[in-house]
Amino acid sequence: MSPTFNNRTALVTGAGRGIGKAIAETLAKNGVTVICVSKSASSCGAVADAINAAGGKAKALAVDVADGTAVAAAAETVLKEFPVIDILVNNAGITRDGLLFRMSDADWSDVIGTNLSSCFHWCKHLARPMTRARWGRIINIASVSGIMGNAGQANYSAAKAGMIGLTKTLAREFASRSVTANVVAPGFIKTDMTTDFVNDAEVSAKILEAVPLKRFGEAADIANMVAFLASEEASYITGQVFTVDGGMAM
Ligand code: NAP
Repeated sequence: MSPTFNNRTALVTGAGRGIGKAIAETLAKNGVTVICVSKSASSCGAVADAINAAGGKAKALAVDVADGTAVAAAAETVLKEFPVIDILVNNAGITRDGLLFRMSDADWSDVIGTNLSSCFHWCKHLARPMTRARWGRIINIASVSGIMGNAGQANYSAAKAGMIGLTKTLAREFASRSVTANVVAPGFIKTDMTTDFVNDAEVSAKILEAVPLKRFGEAADIANMVAFLASEEASYITGQVFTVDGGMAM
C-alpha cells in the first residue's frame, strides 16, 4: 500500500544532502510540494532543481537553522507563499564529537543550536497554521545516540534526547487539533556524516558487531519511515519514537 497524501506541502531541513535529500525526494515522488532547506544555497538548490526536473514540485531555501532570527524570517517568507506547511521535518544536524573533558563550549552550543533549538524555532513558527487547519505532521530526526547515549557525543546525545522530550510535549499540546508529532531515530546510515567510519574497514566491522542486521542503513530506509508518518494513514500515531537502526537499540 502506498502512503496517501492530499496535495500536501512539506518543509524539510537539511534537505541538501544525505537523509534530508532522500526525505525530500520521497515526499516529492508522492506528490508533496517540498521546500528544501539547507545551510548552503547550492545544496538545497541542486535538490530542488532535480525534483522539479523529475516532474515534482520543490523550492529551495538557504537558512542557518541554528539562527532563531533567520528561521523566524524564513518561516514568515514561506507562510506568505503557502498558507500552511502541512508537514515539517526537522532533519538538519551536525556532530562535533569529543570526550566531555575536551569538549569546548562552542562545540556544545553549536550542536545544541543546530540539532535542538532549530526544532523549537521551526515548530514555533510553523505549527500555529497547522493547528488552525486541524491537520499537521511534525517529524523530528533524532538518533539512537539520544536514546542510548554515546561516549564522545555528550552534546549530540543531549540534543537528540532533547528532541524526543520536545516532540512528546508537542504531541500532547497539539493532539486536540489532529497535529501529530513523532521522532525517527536512525542508527548508522551511509551519508557524508558517517563516511569516515563506513570507509574504515576496522571501525565499520566494530560498529556492525552491534547491529543485528549487519549492515549500515541507507538514507531511503529513513525516508520511507518519514513518508509513512507524514501520510494520511499515520493519523493515529503521535508522541512516538521509531528507531530505524538495524536492531541496534532494541
Ligand atoms: P549530512 O549528510 O551531514 O547532511 C546534513 C544536512 O543538514 C545538510 O544538508 C546541511 O546543509 C544541513 N545543515 C547542517 N547544519 C545546518 C544549519 N546550521 N542550517 C541549515 N542546514 C544545516 O547528515 P545526515 O547524515 O543526512 O543526517 C541528517 C540527520 O540525521 C541529522 O539530524 C543527523 O543528526 C541524523 N542522524 C544521522 C545518522 C547517520 O548515521 N547519518 C544517524 C543518526 C541520526 P548543507 O548541505 O548546506 O551543508
